[in-house]
Amino acid sequence: MTDSLEGGCACGAVRYRMDGPPIFVHCCHCTSCQTETGSAFALNAIIEAARVTVLKGAPEAVMTPSESGRGQQFWRCPTCRVAVWSNYGDTRDRIRFVRVGTLDKPDAITPDIHIYTRSKLPWVTIPEGALTAEAFYDVPATWPAESLARWGAATA
Ligand SMILES: [Zn+2]
Ligand SMILES: [Zn+2]
Repeated sequence: MTDSLEGGCACGAVRYRMDGPPIFVHCCHCTSCQTETGSAFALNAIIEAARVTVLKGAPEAVMTPSESGRGQQFWRCPTCRVAVWSNYGDTRDRIRFVRVGTLDKPDAITPDIHIYTRSKLPWVTIPEGALTAEAFYDVPATWPAESLARWGAATA
């Protein structure tokens, strides 16, 4: 795992740096993620907002419906409208869900769990041995202690 990873939108107006490994990485196969990405799933690297630095441009927030009904804020490049990260509910200002595909080296990050596999597209094959959940999952029982501690410290 690289200590520091840079990424950005499609047009280059927004650039950011993510410091340190993510707390946890979701590959989400829910129908909302399919709609939002226009693809089979979303790849979200969950990390403290304090570890994400905007290097160039100013992402704009767009409210988008979420499965929970509380909505999800997507931060998008004001020019090309690509989403670079999102956030949810109470942890809005403290936790970011970085879109792994917007990293310059998206191969540096592998999903820790595949969630909402109940709506996974049938041709997607999940790697053998990967953690999976049919919907959401028991976070405290699944995350490593260090990840739980980082989440706790960031959202306290
Ligand atoms: Zn852009
Ligand atoms: Zn999802």
